[in-house]
Amino acid sequence: MDLGIRGKRAIVCAGSKGLGRGSAEALAEAGVDIVLNARGAEVLEATAAEIAARYGVSVTPVAADITTEAGRAAVLAAAGEVDILVNNAGGPPPGLWSDWGHDDFLKALEGNLLAPVAMIQAVVPGMMARGWGRVVNITSAAVKAPIAQLGLSNTARAGLTGFVAGTARQIAGSGVAMNNLLPGVHATDRIVTLDGPVAAAKGITLAEAGKLRQQNIPAGRYGTAAEFGAMCAFLCSQHAGFIIGQNILLDGGAANQTL
Ligand code: NAP
Repeated sequence: MDLGIRGKRAIVCAGSKGLGRGSAEALAEAGVDIVLNARGAEVLEATAAEIAARYGVSVTPVAADITTEAGRAAVLAAAGEVDILVNNAGGPPPGLWSDWGHDDFLKALEGNLLAPVAMIQAVVPGMMARGWGRVVNITSAAVKAPIAQLGLSNTARAGLTGFVAGTARQIAGSGVAMNNLLPGVHATDRIVTLDGPVAAAKGITLAEAGKLRQQNIPAGRYGTAAEFGAMCAFLCSQHAGFIIGQNILLDGGAANQTL
């Protein structure tokens, strides 16, 4: 399928690895030029060079912390006018509800609520003025079904989901479609941080912990960054203009719910 976005320009935040990288690759395959962000310059520059070489698009790396104002300013300055924004950042650490203090919550809110809101506020006015735009926010399956040990993530992402629900409907009339993509468990580096505690608690290897957790997923496996990226690119395509303010779960059926 031709996604109809060849020549468009995108910002992909937190995209040197994992789901952000998968999204950048799928957009690049559709012919989109990308400003690619992550903090670590070395991996970011290597990823940008690989994607540019593979798909023949321009990929500009901007090494910056997207959860800071200075980091966002650097990304926005490099990007200029963009048609597509993929919001992403690292996720907060796991823990117990009683572990976290005020500063832990502030950090989670900065990363997974206030940073994406600031990026939306920075680029959506231009999209509206030009009459076309796509925003995809990478959130989490935790928005639909809470993951108890990820209370910081549950909290911050629920806030973003509320913001997007109202805002998506305010901007849709100007040709800007904004939606959230909710990853269930995907095989990325992030998973090591989540399988690790299971392996340690049960005295088993990381691979065994992974197998154990995959038994709880009806699809019987973790998702891949490539299939996640394909969905992201579709939501950024010409075909997705009537999909507004949705929360699309990619979790292999793990959340046991009818709707
Ligand atoms: P990942 O494989 O660990 O990749 C994270 C990417 O984000 C890296 O490129 C990292 O590069 C970059 N990054 C992290 N913090 C950043 C920051 N402050 N500013 C700029 N870039 C930053 O993680 P992932 O699995 O793709 O997860 C992406 C998001 O989806 C996270 O918020 C995660 O919590 C959420 N999620 C993931 C899963 C899953 O199963 N994988 C499930 C639910 C939700 P640098 O470290 O160099 O900055």
